Amino acid sequence: MVPGARLVVLGKQGAGKGTQCVHLSHHYVVPHVSTGDMLRAAVKQGTPLGRKAKEVMDRGELLGDDLIMEMVAERLGESDVRARGFVLDGCPRTVEQAEQLAEILAPAHLDLAVDIEVPTAQVLRRLAARRVCTDCGANYSTSQPPKVNWTCDICGGEVVQREDDREEAIARRLELYERQTAPLIDWYRSRDLLASVSGTGTPDAVTRRIVKAIEARRRRKGRA
Ligand code: AMP
Repeated sequence: MVPGARLVVLGKQGAGKGTQCVHLSHHYVVPHVSTGDMLRAAVKQGTPLGRKAKEVMDRGELLGDDLIMEMVAERLGESDVRARGFVLDGCPRTVEQAEQLAEILAPAHLDLAVDIEVPTAQVLRRLAARRVCTDCGANYSTSQPPKVNWTCDICGGEVVQREDDREEAIARRLELYERQTAPLIDWYRSRDLLASVSGTGTPDAVTRRIVKAIEARRRRKGRA
């Protein structure tokens, strides 16, 4: 059996993080922990967190570090994650979050932070075309819509464009990425915890590249 893993996946919005995290969670048999999905579920359920988060998310801004890390710490403390590990999607987004994550995991460490690299022009095209199921979060696009009338092939939910995939919010999110999230790449690199992988090509090809990088890292650490 493939061993568990403790992974963070970084990359611009639209780099394919969500898809790759699903593939990696199946490959390593670990939970996919997505802060965006957790927040969207809270918005849908109308919880106090969801009410607070909705407006910020619709504008494409980031929520506060402490609020996010409290939510993440709670999830990472659950038994499935403690037993096998996790693929963390959408977090950390700031150096402060990366520092808090390291504290939450101590004395253990991450196996690796994987940065999926895709040129900005390409992510802009992908985001503008992206459509998602409001119930299960499945991804579609204008060129690969669901089979019947914008209802999800998997669960029958309504398939729509995310508020924060509209042009203005996309520009804001990419600007925030450059300012707040890109420094994370240096943070992980300086701790020898980073692998950069090209995110172009088919999703399966990207997954193979990522798994190869993770296995190479494991062999190297095993020898260290
Ligand atoms: P995502 O689906 O990962 O793009 O997340 C959607 C939105 O949720 C983001 O644009 C933020 O408003 C919020 N969000 C998700 N993860 C975080 C995080 N780690 N820190 C701050 N805000 C977050």
